Amino acid sequence: MKQFEKLVRPNILTLQPYRSAREECQLTQGVFLDANENPYGSLNRYPDPYQNALKEILSQQKLIAKENIFIGNGSDEIIDLLIRLFCRPGEDRILSFSPSYGMYKVCADINAVQFDEISLNAAFDIDEVKVLSRLTNGNYKILFICSPNNPTGNLLNTDAILSILRAFGGVVVIDEAYIDFSRGESWVRQIEAFNNLVVLQTLSKSRGLASARIGIAYGASWIIKYLNNIKPPYNVSQLNQDAAIKVLSNNEAYDFNTQLIQNEKDRLVADLRILKCVNKIYPSDANFFLVEFGNANDTYNYLLSKGIVVRNRHTQFSNCLRISIGSKEENDKLVNALKSMV
Ligand code: PMP
Repeated sequence: MKQFEKLVRPNILTLQPYRSAREECQLTQGVFLDANENPYGSLNRYPDPYQNALKEILSQQKLIAKENIFIGNGSDEIIDLLIRLFCRPGEDRILSFSPSYGMYKVCADINAVQFDEISLNAAFDIDEVKVLSRLTNGNYKILFICSPNNPTGNLLNTDAILSILRAFGGVVVIDEAYIDFSRGESWVRQIEAFNNLVVLQTLSKSRGLASARIGIAYGASWIIKYLNNIKPPYNVSQLNQDAAIKVLSNNEAYDFNTQLIQNEKDRLVADLRILKCVNKIYPSDANFFLVEFGNANDTYNYLLSKGIVVRNRHTQFSNCLRISIGSKEENDKLVNALKSMV
């Protein structure tokens, strides 16, 4: 831990964090006149700032101690907090891959932290030699790795990630927003081996809870402690904590829906593959895939005119649209619309 704690921004190392009165007294039952709440109503009390009940269920399911778990208002909040925890504006640098999830760069830009990218190779994978040479010479504080990667959909090379973890003296953030749709192993099992590893997951995708904004970071307790020190005190509403607990308690629905999405994905790929307007479908370990069309802009606009919204990725990949797997009815609408496109 000491080896890595020097990565924390000096002003955060010495920060006196905000602590609520209830946190200081540790009482869960009593007459609470400490937080200027309204005594009336059903949502009148502030939520548990450390989301203990939610962490308990995650801890049981993932076999990870609560002190290694941080909950954010979506994983987007955690991306921003990690940058603010480690990177001094105007001084430190972040490395990631291109193309990848856009919020790494946006959060870096908001925090005035230099953001550099290394292109993925032709198979959309990590060029290990290139990355290792940049990491050892580049004075980077954080490396963001998205696996399965958005928008390409593929898992990134495990051996290359392992080499990076062994070689890099900064923090490695592996964003696994789509891991539950993949055949790959999660990196959460590795947080004990690597004190500088943070694994991000979210309930927005496989758990179908995008509206409730629940992101999760798994990592060494020293990192979680600092994230707790810098987060807004009540960053996850009680409504959202309760919704997350409910969803995590229903593994049958999760298994059923995940299988349904997998079946729909296979069916959609088969249906799209035979269409004249489709040139190529890229392999995917996620609940979306990249599809190359004869003309992506025309196809995008045509689908929009039919009320179907997909993600136009033509500027990153010539003539590619990124398509999420919808319900059977939604997927049927997409395929039928494409069939009738002239
Ligand atoms: N990481 C990746 C790779 C994503 O694609 C997304 C959402 N599009 C997020 C993180 C953010 O997820 P959340 O809803 O938990 O903020």
